[in-house]
Amino acid sequence: MSAAPLTITVLGSGTSHGVPMIGCDCDVCRSDDPRDLRTRPSIVVSWDEASVLIDTTPELRLQCLANDIRRVDAVLYTHYHIDHVAGLDDLRRFNWLQEAPVPVYAQTDTLDRLQSMFPYVFDRESQQPSAIPKLDLHAIDGSFEVAGRSITPIPLLHGTMPVLGFRFGNFAYCTDVSEIPGASWPLLENLDVLILDALRLKPHPTHFNLEQAIDHARRIGARQTYFTHIAHEIGHAQVEADLPDDMLIAYDGLEFQSQ
Ligand SMILES: [Zn+2]
Ligand SMILES: [Zn+2]
Ligand SMILES: [Zn+2]
Repeated sequence: MSAAPLTITVLGSGTSHGVPMIGCDCDVCRSDDPRDLRTRPSIVVSWDEASVLIDTTPELRLQCLANDIRRVDAVLYTHYHIDHVAGLDDLRRFNWLQEAPVPVYAQTDTLDRLQSMFPYVFDRESQQPSAIPKLDLHAIDGSFEVAGRSITPIPLLHGTMPVLGFRFGNFAYCTDVSEIPGASWPLLENLDVLILDALRLKPHPTHFNLEQAIDHARRIGARQTYFTHIAHEIGHAQVEADLPDDMLIAYDGLEFQSQ
């Protein structure tokens, strides 16, 4: 098992529309602060020579170019909403770079949905096998190992939809969550760093708003919490200035270490 420190890179910190939103003239969508430019939510977790991608957003190609991502040892999916899966086709570039299929880990319902959303990828009769991504699907059923490191899935609720967060060592990523089931709280103990959903200021049926996110982050008690999946109601500088000392707002390109 590797005990090397983790490097986490936030590829995208925005909600499903991204920020700026198409056709919006609000102060945040027109902001000059680069931290208010938010692509769809995704991170890469790296250690030693390994890197694990969480979700494949519609901006995956641009996110990989912006952050010089050259290797993907596995993709983990939190759930099948389109802002988290639409970039799946771009994984074929990693087939070429690594000369191997890309291992994909997700809940069974997510794997089933990926196969109905991207039928051409999983069509064994495909006429152009070189033009489609080659993926090895693995259904998540408890902790699993990638490149010598154990990864623990964290069951979460996104409205009524069961989704997954993921814990690597003392780091956890919990996007798209509106409720943490009782059985998942022990999986969030003793965290060094937590990334947690905080969509906007007003309540929302399937995401924590900022107030709920602060409350849950306090109870979880990570040394440092970053909020993600941010909508255009939240201007980075203004809102971050009022947060507790151990909480910050994530932004695209943010990189930090964790044990
Ligand atoms: Zn706006
Ligand atoms: Zn979602
Ligand atoms: Zn989402």
